[in-house]
Amino acid sequence: MKALISVSDKTGIVEFAEALHDLGVQLLSTGGTAKLLADKGLPVTEVAQLTQFPEMLDGRVKTLHPKVHGGLLARRDLPEHMAALKEHGIDTIDLLVVNLYPFEATVAKPGCTLADAIENIDIGGPAMVRSAAKNWKDVGVITAADQYAAVIGELKAGGKLSDKLRFQLSVAAFNRISQYDGAISDYLSSVTFEDEKLSQAYVPERTVFPAQANSQFIKIQDLRYGENSHQQAAWYRDLYPAPGSLATGVQLQGKELSYNNIADADAAWECVKSFVEPACVIVKHANPCGVAVGKDAHEAYAKAFQTDPTSAFGGIIAFNRAVDKAAAEAVSKQFVEVLMAPEFSAEALEIFKSKVNVRLMQIALPKGGKTDWDNGRNAIESKRVGSGILLQTADNHELQLADLKVVTVKQPTPEELQDLLFAWKVAKFVKSNAIVFCKNGMTMGVGAGQMSRLDSARIASIKAEAAKLTLKNTVVASDAFFPFRDGLDVVVDAGASCVAQPGGSMRDQEVIDAANERGVAMVFTGVRHFRH
Ligand code: 5GP
Repeated sequence: MKALISVSDKTGIVEFAEALHDLGVQLLSTGGTAKLLADKGLPVTEVAQLTQFPEMLDGRVKTLHPKVHGGLLARRDLPEHMAALKEHGIDTIDLLVVNLYPFEATVAKPGCTLADAIENIDIGGPAMVRSAAKNWKDVGVITAADQYAAVIGELKAGGKLSDKLRFQLSVAAFNRISQYDGAISDYLSSVTFEDEKLSQAYVPERTVFPAQANSQFIKIQDLRYGENSHQQAAWYRDLYPAPGSLATGVQLQGKELSYNNIADADAAWECVKSFVEPACVIVKHANPCGVAVGKDAHEAYAKAFQTDPTSAFGGIIAFNRAVDKAAAEAVSKQFVEVLMAPEFSAEALEIFKSKVNVRLMQIALPKGGKTDWDNGRNAIESKRVGSGILLQTADNHELQLADLKVVTVKQPTPEELQDLLFAWKVAKFVKSNAIVFCKNGMTMGVGAGQMSRLDSARIASIKAEAAKLTLKNTVVASDAFFPFRDGLDVVVDAGASCVAQPGGSMRDQEVIDAANERGVAMVFTGVRHFRH
């Protein structure tokens, strides 16, 4: 049996080659890999010796030769193929071990020049991988270090690879090639081309939205059904998911996640991630129905639940702190579909053990510390529209205290300003039209997803009443401006004493006059947060 080994990432390759050698496999290899193996005392034949051609053109041509590709592609079951090999003095190659030039890692480095990127496009590697993967019935193709153990296991057990493993390796190989070519295509499509700058040192500008939207996805799992039971569905993740994003989570227990669970979990997780202090978000049908911050997870949950206990039933709950015993005990008293947190204490896990249906998702915090959430956000959002796709940079705007412009005679108190910032953060995650009443770091009434802002305001106050909460002296955030004074009147009638809205309406003055007349404070944020 012969193996051709040509790897850029040399992790684990010496041990793997030693194991192959111990099993009696002959080793063929390219320059750098051959040297490494020979230095470790392994008998290895260089491909250049096999082809009687030196590696040339700075390694651009190493293995592109009939002696290599004939040995990989010949069908062992066809006498004509075997006769052709014999006629041309070509030996079969049974195992191919290749990982490619590190194109993805190269272009990810800041300051990567166009020349660096181009030089890291592997040619012979993918060609060999395709040859071997096409001929999977006769050749085992190994494209990742995490496949080494399975290959050695089967060779040790039966002296050859099973059809099943060779087929799986072939599928993995084509996936890898597709990813690799996708990365090259993404990169080159995102580069702005300027003739005069095509020197070796040219670091291209990258556009956010390349000529082709080639984003690559990897399947996480098939789902039982989609939004409704007659729809089929699956969950995919980005090839390189943002650290701290939902797709990086691990399900610790519970029923299989459903399509709606995942959509709601994402809404809850993205919202809770935006808080620095301990926070809890309860989501139903993609809208937060209770959000609060507190001194710890337990207090945040108790406050969030209070906003709307009726809607919280069957909710998706997210924490940005570890769920400890106290929080777990409180949450376990309600019907919960999915519970997400960066950590669960051993006691919390014990409490949920008997609630086998509750889905627990553990999602690691992004690197950079517990409060550094920024790097865990999607950079680009997408939405499918009739045979097309809309892309936009994500709504990652963070309102700061200094951005607030007081437009009324009455000034907000420092407590109201804090609550306004809190309410604004929540409003960003509520479907438009969004009206969010808050007090003391807790939502007091949420009006979501109405076609009229007035209706959202009315619904928020109906909900507060149902939850036996008073809206007196609350702050309120409106995700977009009030086009007329009537919206302001409704929220002030409900009890709000301080209002945040983007401003920018033709009738801003009418609304400011109304706020002064009603004796409430109002701030303009200068930014709007539609969410559909
Ligand atoms: P080595 O470190 O052994 O010198 O080179 C290993 C790398 O070369 C592997 O990533 C492999 O995919 C790549 N490679 C093998 N043959 C060729 C070839 O003919 N042309 C190019 N451009 N790369 C090759």
